[in-house]
Amino acid sequence: MSVQKVVLITGAGSGIGLAAARLYAERGYGVVAVDRDAERLAGLGGVATLAGDVADDATNAAAVELAQERFGRLDAAVLNAGIGGAGPLESDGALERFARILAVNVGGVASGVRAVVPAMRAVGGGAIVATSSVSGLRGDAHTWAYNASKAAIVNLVRGLAVDYASEGIRINAIAPGGTVTAMTAAQVADPWLGPAIAARIPMGRWSEPREQAEVVWFLTSSAASYVTGVTVPVDGGLSADNA
Ligand code: NAD
Repeated sequence: MSVQKVVLITGAGSGIGLAAARLYAERGYGVVAVDRDAERLAGLGGVATLAGDVADDATNAAAVELAQERFGRLDAAVLNAGIGGAGPLESDGALERFARILAVNVGGVASGVRAVVPAMRAVGGGAIVATSSVSGLRGDAHTWAYNASKAAIVNLVRGLAVDYASEGIRINAIAPGGTVTAMTAAQVADPWLGPAIAARIPMGRWSEPREQAEVVWFLTSSAASYVTGVTVPVDGGLSADNA
């Protein structure tokens, strides 16, 4: 298949990653979609898919190989797969869940960057976008592990952006606010919590995954050719509000 540009997207079976996969495909990109959940990927037509865990280096290496095999190049990567759910610090198994959250949310991004950089170098540069969160910019109740992992992405992106800037590889992140996806389905559906969360957001509503994907698109596009090392909040004003 002949395409001009190629993107690798992790966590592409659902939510923000799925919206990004659809958006890049609509706009003519070759898309390699990675998710640990093979069933979720099965619904994605017209893209190359790979089932695997981003915390495993072998998955990220295989995804880059698939991009080369199927499309012959790699220009962009959206390192978006993430999990939450450690629960309170003193709950049973909290530290084990914390280790797994760090392995996926932070380790998966580091491993992903390491895997894609040689392919981007081969085409003279590239753009990488990781998914942080407003939870990486401040703290939330019972969300300390996720907060820590998403804050780590903010500074990982800064450091790696500096390391790869001279090679024309830009590395940024988005910090989504509450977005309607499988991850938040229970909160959105909760008759008290869903509206209560929306009411805290200056724009007064949850985000749609496509609104996140559009900012990811911008950050990988030539319109953002001088932008690297930043985390862009996409949160309806939540992180701007001191209330
Ligand atoms: P989602 O659950 O709809 O999608 C996440 C996808 O990632 C799922 O398909 C899941 O199978 C996949 N995944 C999880 N762990 C994986 C792993 N180890 N390897 C490969 N795939 C894996 O959730 P979403 O809301 O679209 O989340 C996407 C990203 O956005 C995550 O990093 C999340 O932390 C972040 N985020 C979400 C929100 C929100 O409100 N939904 C807010 C801020 C940040």
